Amino acid sequence: MTAGHDSNARSFEALVRTMLGYLGEDPDREGLRETPRRVMKAWGEWCSGYDQDPAKVLKTFEDGACKELVLVKDIPVHSTCEHHLAPFFGKAHIAYIPNGRIVGLSKLSRLVDIYARRLQVQERLTTQVADALVDNLKPTGVGVVIECRHLCMESRGVNRAGVTTVTSAMRGALMEQPEARAELLALIARSPV
Ligand code: ZN
Repeated sequence: MTAGHDSNARSFEALVRTMLGYLGEDPDREGLRETPRRVMKAWGEWCSGYDQDPAKVLKTFEDGACKELVLVKDIPVHSTCEHHLAPFFGKAHIAYIPNGRIVGLSKLSRLVDIYARRLQVQERLTTQVADALVDNLKPTGVGVVIECRHLCMESRGVNRAGVTTVTSAMRGALMEQPEARAELLALIARSPV
């Protein structure tokens, strides 16, 4: 939702006004007058991942010496569940075993954002991050573990507060070699420095 889509923007704001009325609110009361525009801007951020290309973010460097596990832990995840348009949030742990090429560590958190800032299910988010690493780095192994809390489950429906959903996607050596996978899971479980 960028400037230039003026008619789309107007209909989005109209939609939010309709929703406010449906919820029993008066969209014209002072506190809500700017809400449709704010909501539109907020959704623009929450869904800003659609226009981004992981290949552009994952620029790699040649480094034949690095062949051991690289793990970046506790990357913040903010996403939106596609079933309820409710937030889910938590942490991602991303690991790969280089095969001659490495990637800037900060790029891994950019990669998470590209897929998290869309309507998602946590399972697909995990798979997409893993597959993007496989496609762009051609590493020996990839491991992605994501832990999230889902507000659609905590504050409605089953109303289970504090429940964490954990998903993982392992590729290559981290899928095939139990000792490599065990090393990764032990490193993820370690307390922070
Ligand atoms: Zn949901």
